[in-house]
Amino acid sequence: MGIYLDFNSSSPIDERVLTAMIDVYRNVAGNADSRTHNFGVSARQVVENARGEVASLLNVNKDEVFFTSGATESNNIVLQGLKEYSEKTGKKHIITTSIEHKAIIETCKAMEKLGFEVSYVNPKLDGRVAYEDVVSLVREDTLIVSIMHVNNETGIIQPVKEIGEFLADKEVYFHIDATQSFGKLVDELKQIKFDMLSMSAHKIGGPQGIGALILKKKRYKLPPVKGIMYGGQQEHGIRPGTIPVALVVGLGYACSLVANEYRENADKCQKIKEMLLAELDNSGISYRINGNQECCVPNTLNVCFDGVSSEALMLSTKQYCGISNGSACNSKSYEPSFVLSAMGIPVDQIENSVRISWGAEADFEEVRASFKELITVAKGLVF
Ligand code: PMP
Repeated sequence: MGIYLDFNSSSPIDERVLTAMIDVYRNVAGNADSRTHNFGVSARQVVENARGEVASLLNVNKDEVFFTSGATESNNIVLQGLKEYSEKTGKKHIITTSIEHKAIIETCKAMEKLGFEVSYVNPKLDGRVAYEDVVSLVREDTLIVSIMHVNNETGIIQPVKEIGEFLADKEVYFHIDATQSFGKLVDELKQIKFDMLSMSAHKIGGPQGIGALILKKKRYKLPPVKGIMYGGQQEHGIRPGTIPVALVVGLGYACSLVANEYRENADKCQKIKEMLLAELDNSGISYRINGNQECCVPNTLNVCFDGVSSEALMLSTKQYCGISNGSACNSKSYEPSFVLSAMGIPVDQIENSVRISWGAEADFEEVRASFKELITVAKGLVF
């Protein structure tokens, strides 16, 4: 199968996290909401401990952390959960970008059908939306601004810090989808003035199927987000359903590990990126990098190999590495990446672009060897 280089899609679970989770599956039998016996009390204790680990990584309070099944659900709750508040206040304008994850874009599209007006800000060619393009759209009836911190396809960091500063004293909620930055841009996230934040465990060595929504209190009050499912009062009704104790522990433990390791992880990832760029330069192949590397995270490279179809490249390199492109592909149609399209990259270049993403645990020499194979294959595919 070769080497896994698709960490932005999902990262492998950290062995230490897995061990902690297995221990919970074996030894913690209760439902964290059972009040009638000590099994429930123990389950509640481990859940609350994990909540503290998540809160501490973001420098928020424990009672601002709500467990969900992941960032898709958190994003849905943020937007759909504001419907009632929007009815009360008449605020029906949403500002977002055209390069968000589908969990935001498709929720926005559904809300447009309900009478909401959504402004989608396009990024520039460098992969960043301009601060002015976002804040100039804010108006009296703006309900929420929802912007991703780091784009999953390009790794480009968006100006959420500046946007947060601008919105801090306005009656407009600010949500960031921090799925690709959580546990990585740890210091930066602590400084951003957001009201709501979405994230997911499986991007930081935690298990799939668990994440959190952070709702930050303003003047001691939570944002007026309501749960979007009926069925229980777990997580204060924001996310009803039995709390998956072992998954929550996996998320919490992954947080406490990256809290100690994020700087070292970033350094390792940056070294891999520099090596990949050097290999590209030395190979003589014609390529271009999508997105400005000065505002890019260290674990992502979106690269266009001139004249090389990304689909052909991915197929022909399957034995060396697992990489991806952002296309929406099904048997009937091929749609080039909407993120690269929104940046204004020509379609032929988009069709030749692949995303390579890695983590600190990726073996430097193995990555180098498989990347060299990839370049050799790419050279043979130049059309
Ligand atoms: N937002 C972003 C920016 C993402 O990259 C992803 C995962 N690819 C999600 C949301 C969805 O996360 P989850 O898999 O936890 O639903």
